[in-house]
Amino acid sequence: MAFAEIALGQIKALGQAAIPRNYEIWYAYATGYHPSLNQTINETLQRSGALAEADLEKIHRTYLSPARLTERIDSVGSHVKGEIEQVMAMIDAAAGSASSYTESLAGMSEKLVQSKDRDGLRAIVESLVQTTKEMEVSNKALEERLSASKQEINSLQEDLETVRTESLTDPLTQLANRKFFDTTLEEAIIEARANNEPLSLMLTDIDHFKNFNDSFGHLTGDQVLRLVALSLKQNVKGQDTAARYGGEEFAVILPNTVLRSAITVADHVRRAVMTKELMKRSTGEHLGRITISIGVATLHKSDTVQSLIERTDACLYAAKRHGRNRVMCETDPEVSASPTAQQVA
Ligand code: GH3
Ligand code: MG
Ligand code: MG
Repeated sequence: MAFAEIALGQIKALGQAAIPRNYEIWYAYATGYHPSLNQTINETLQRSGALAEADLEKIHRTYLSPARLTERIDSVGSHVKGEIEQVMAMIDAAAGSASSYTESLAGMSEKLVQSKDRDGLRAIVESLVQTTKEMEVSNKALEERLSASKQEINSLQEDLETVRTESLTDPLTQLANRKFFDTTLEEAIIEARANNEPLSLMLTDIDHFKNFNDSFGHLTGDQVLRLVALSLKQNVKGQDTAARYGGEEFAVILPNTVLRSAITVADHVRRAVMTKELMKRSTGEHLGRITISIGVATLHKSDTVQSLIERTDACLYAAKRHGRNRVMCETDPEVSASPTAQQVA
């Protein structure tokens, strides 16, 4: 409600149309989830004292519209195409002037043979200097154009990299998203097999999270998701991939890690989460603590991506059944004894 009130307050104060797009912009502003959106709004307001229709449209398109990534990729693509066309035209022109230079050199060397007197020689040399100068100018223009193009293409490449990273990142937690997780796990399995290295996987799920949301609200729940994500980030190494697997489920791919080490990592994460005393920042209200359950499994010779995930999930399910706030792995007797483990999606 607090965010909603801020959003409506802004719409009223600035006399804007109370349409969903504007509400979405001001709601996002109130949450502070998109720091660059807030910065753009603040700067625009400081500069011109108001947000015009065009500003609002642009802000929405840049930060909120679901189509924004596709649009940005398309725009980078068409810029690259434009650059290439210009460079090709420039190269055509340069090739043309190079061949006419060759022709005039040939003409001159012919004249040189025929020329008998001093004045004739002078005319040939002058003309030679002149054509060489022209060639120099055209070469210089080409060089400048190529160097400008190189800069432009470098910056387009950076844009593309930003869009790519964004399309593989979960916006709430800034962890890898499901799409990135799927491709990374597939690659990690291939790599582990090729190098004959171990690979482990862990899946976590927050305990009784529905109760938490029901008691304190979805937005506070979202903050808890960020906190769990942070605990994951702080307890895994650079080679590991921590991802938001689903709503309140996270996964970590642990390359070159045996089961025993993966369990240790999982336990560190579990402890890190359970020791955090949660407090609502806006009101100072104490929200208690939350716990997570974790399943851990390691890659077998006969595994597919699917079977590895399913076994890890079965461990997670066993951790839930055996009281939550615990790590269970595939060698725990409770896991193999679980008849219903396969039912857990
Ligand atoms: P369990 O201990 O068995 O895991 O109980 P649970 O209540 O956590 O059950 P489950 O794992 O099925 O959790 C589903 C709940 O997680 C539903 C919803 O309230 C919450 N949830 C899922 N995604 C999100 C999200 O993106 N934000 C918030 N705030 N809550 C979410
Ligand atoms: Mg769940
Ligand atoms: Mg849960």
